Amino acid sequence: MTSRRTRDRLIARLREQGVEDDRVLDVVRDTPRHIFIDEALSHRAYEDTALPIGFNQTISQPYSVARMTELLLAEGPLHNVLEVGTGSGYQTAVLAQLVDQVFSVERIKPLQDKARKRLQLLKLRNVQLMHSDGGMGWPAKAPFDGILVTAAPEEVPAELLAQLTVGGRLIIPVGARQQELKLIVRTGEDSFDTRVVEAAKFVPLLSGTVR
Ligand code: SAH
Repeated sequence: MTSRRTRDRLIARLREQGVEDDRVLDVVRDTPRHIFIDEALSHRAYEDTALPIGFNQTISQPYSVARMTELLLAEGPLHNVLEVGTGSGYQTAVLAQLVDQVFSVERIKPLQDKARKRLQLLKLRNVQLMHSDGGMGWPAKAPFDGILVTAAPEEVPAELLAQLTVGGRLIIPVGARQQELKLIVRTGEDSFDTRVVEAAKFVPLLSGTVR
């Protein structure tokens, strides 16, 4: 189930769906997704599908992880990235291998605790986690060159826009029933460029925290 062949098949599928960045595809192939999933489901770890991780949440589909990471890195290397919605920690682990520093926030404490253990197991030391409502961003660590949101708000939170550097990129699914994946680039102090990339399907961004 974790064989090279199974993982290569996943990478081939991501390429077929239009993911092109070899750095991203190499990291996805080399990151053990099965350790981010409960044992009962881990035989499905290399299928291109979201899977339940408890608390009504899911580990993102590999396609979404690869696509969003590729969009984030498209204009060159990034120094610091904020992820909203750590969940299993899988997207966090992929990012940590491609940018200097990852800051990731999660509102459900038990999910964050598990994610932390997995990231330690993989010896990814350039990651900092915080238990909080990520709709507020992470003001103390801002501004960020990149922000990646893995849960969908109905509208783009103003706090996240405010925490981008000029030139910084925000990748975010937006919408209630019908979601769109958006790429927003801060082009100046008060100017933003928004592009709709494709349709998306993520769990909702919720406010408040769970202990
Ligand atoms: N990147 C994760 C995706 C998990 S699903 C993975 O690959 O496993 C989205 C996550 O966002 C869930 O864990 C959910 O609890 C979290 N989330 C939702 N609203 C949030 C908020 N306001 N702040 C922080 N995390 C939030």
